[in-house]
Amino acid sequence: MTDNPRPISRRKSVAVGVGGVVIGGEAPILVQSMTNTDTADVEATVAQVTDLARAGSELVRITVDREDAARAVPRIREGLDRQGIGVPLIGDFHYIGHTLLTKYPDCAEALAKYRINPGNVGHGEKRDTRFSTMIEVALRYDRPVRIGVNWGSLDQDLLTTLMDENARSAQPVTAADVTREALVVSALSNAARAEELGLGRDRIVLSCKVSSVQDLVAVYASLAARSDHALHLGLTEAGMGSKGIVASTAAMSVLLQQGIGDTIRVSLTPKPGGDRTREVIVAQEILQTMGLRAFTPLVTACPGCGRTTSTVFQHLAEKIQDHVRARMPVWRQRYVGVETMNLAVMGCIVNGPGESKHADIGISLPGTGEEPSAPVFIDGRKTVTLRGPDIAEEFQRIVDDYVETRYAKRDPGPTAQEPVEDAGPVSTAAQ
Ligand code: SF4
Repeated sequence: MTDNPRPISRRKSVAVGVGGVVIGGEAPILVQSMTNTDTADVEATVAQVTDLARAGSELVRITVDREDAARAVPRIREGLDRQGIGVPLIGDFHYIGHTLLTKYPDCAEALAKYRINPGNVGHGEKRDTRFSTMIEVALRYDRPVRIGVNWGSLDQDLLTTLMDENARSAQPVTAADVTREALVVSALSNAARAEELGLGRDRIVLSCKVSSVQDLVAVYASLAARSDHALHLGLTEAGMGSKGIVASTAAMSVLLQQGIGDTIRVSLTPKPGGDRTREVIVAQEILQTMGLRAFTPLVTACPGCGRTTSTVFQHLAEKIQDHVRARMPVWRQRYVGVETMNLAVMGCIVNGPGESKHADIGISLPGTGEEPSAPVFIDGRKTVTLRGPDIAEEFQRIVDDYVETRYAKRDPGPTAQEPVEDAGPVSTAAQ
């Protein structure tokens, strides 16, 4: 992987252990996701959590919305453990979390973290009692919590108080500013209350999710400046397809570049029956393309243009990506650091050799009218020129040989992480 010329300095946060992984502190920024199955459907939920974990999700959240769901949680945990899927499960609670966590101790125990939305635990005295009950359960089972504030369910009592104060102020700010402040105050004041009840700072993660990019950047900048709690980053209701991906990437990249964020979730709306693991791959791609973590080899490909009108170049880029995807589960277990490998597949000699030299291995295919040869660069040096109909196969062999000789072999034995089965990002090198 290309070295980051200006390494990002992370905001210092308190590390929070969650079922064998760590959020914040010196830990890498974790990728997490959430199921969309009915939690009461044990089989479907086990299957989806397994898919998400195998795709690289390091924490998986499941909704616990009713008694059937709470009863299912321990069985889901058992089902995952039977398959050797150790990914920590986070329970997402709203409205009746206090009841479910106390009535179903096996559920409380099976979960590695509880997500509490302070806007959805009731009002007045009831609110404090319910919140306190959930914190007491966290203390009893020694579990961390995420105090997850959401724009769509913001504590209305708090918002009203802040709006009234603003109205009386000599220099009132806009209603949008007050709402952003209410999100941050809600997170911080509930964290302070949890600490008063005895929960350590190393057991509290905070989030303040909104659906607008600029609001998210402003809210998290404020939250980060006013606390050292570990932060969960995510744009809520990001949307479908490219809109959701672009909005999440735009918002999170700005914050990650500022060193803000200890775990991320990309909230994508899948197509009906669509693949839930897409949100995991996108989260990994955000972190990897920013140089913050490496998950799987990057395949850089130029977008193609009128200089390369044949489809040979597209076929080769696809074939190499598929090859890396197929080999990665084995490579990951055998070779240390293979996920940092960087490949380039370029369409002609305009940018091909230059881009190839920057990659670990690069190939530049002949453009229209160019000599039918494909120079290959390894570690910045031209090593061979491929010709003929088997360029793709020969290039794959070169990639395999490179992995074999370049990366140290792991000690045999079980690896801590599940294999990641996606070949990962293809970045475009435009002109
Ligand atoms: S390297 Fe650039 S000029 Fe050549 S085919 Fe790709 S996009 Fe076109």
